[in-house]
Amino acid sequence: MSQSGGALPDFRRYRRLRQSEGLRRFARETILHPGDFVYPLFVTFGRGVRREVSSMPDVFQLSIDQLEREANVLLDLGIGSVILFGIPEVKDLEASDAYDPDGIVQQAIRELKRIAPNLVVIGDVCCCEYTSHGHCGILDGEIVDNDRTLALLARTAVAQAHAGVDIVAPSDMMDGRVRVIREALDGAGYVNLPILSYSAKYASGFYGPFRDAADSTPEFGDRRSHQMDPANVREAYLEIAADIDEGADAIIVKPAMPYLDVIAGARERFDVPIAAYNVSGEYAMVRAAGRAGWIDERRVTMELLTSIRRAGASQIITYHAKSAAGWLREEYGATLRVRSSPVVGVSQGTPAGGVQSD
Ligand SMILES: [Zn+2]
Repeated sequence: MSQSGGALPDFRRYRRLRQSEGLRRFARETILHPGDFVYPLFVTFGRGVRREVSSMPDVFQLSIDQLEREANVLLDLGIGSVILFGIPEVKDLEASDAYDPDGIVQQAIRELKRIAPNLVVIGDVCCCEYTSHGHCGILDGEIVDNDRTLALLARTAVAQAHAGVDIVAPSDMMDGRVRVIREALDGAGYVNLPILSYSAKYASGFYGPFRDAADSTPEFGDRRSHQMDPANVREAYLEIAADIDEGADAIIVKPAMPYLDVIAGARERFDVPIAAYNVSGEYAMVRAAGRAGWIDERRVTMELLTSIRRAGASQIITYHAKSAAGWLREEYGATLRVRSSPVVGVSQGTPAGGVQSD
């Protein structure tokens, strides 16, 4: 290529690697994979229940008998893990269903491990879905009593372990819970059961739709005495360091989009797997704006998920998992087949899936 007249310009041409979809893929730093997604499941009592959550389109409360169909859909899309939340028939002051051997989540774990042994089943460990007042543990007045709650969390983790869970994920934000859960699991013979700790869980306005889905809105007050202040990031690193020290094998930052700096900072500082929870309010905003025609939902969803991965999350817990996995298949599936088995007549250089060029 010759420059038309004058001296060669003294700048670098970054646009060279953006000239075609093939070149953009060649230079792409971050690629999502369905195996990175963790799909949240809300399991409820009864039979034949498939109840859509009003504030979360395409997200359903499912009864146990509906799990087989759901697991098959997820496995077919390449999604390798789920995280379970329970909606029990009876709630009480001690969150009994959370650690009842026949509690709703324990039933769901057994069913999923029966029908889909290779699906990684993660059990959320907290009390708020199981207490009559909707708080995360035993109350002392209007405040959750940290140390009395620890015993319930340990019992819940062991109950999930007995049911066959692959990973326990404490989400309560009580101090010291990873240590107590680790000791309880080890004492019960589950030395190899990993703990994925919600280490940096913020007191967020983005949880609203989840509380419809999991039926866990507190009767009074909020969770600010145990969840983190959204203004803080150094404190998140202290929480993460403490959880790793107590025995966490991997950690979660929650929510995701408003806390990408926390994910990126944690990635720099810690070498355990970091998951991000792309929460219900983040999902609801995108779905609502997409339905209204205000944004291109597919494009925005993939951009957001990519940003979470790029920030440093190795796993993304997301309600978008199924649609995103389908879009990834459309976008990369055809290309991967062409690359692995060159076929005469396949036109090279044609972007698969009609990718929009921009
Ligand atoms: Zn809770």
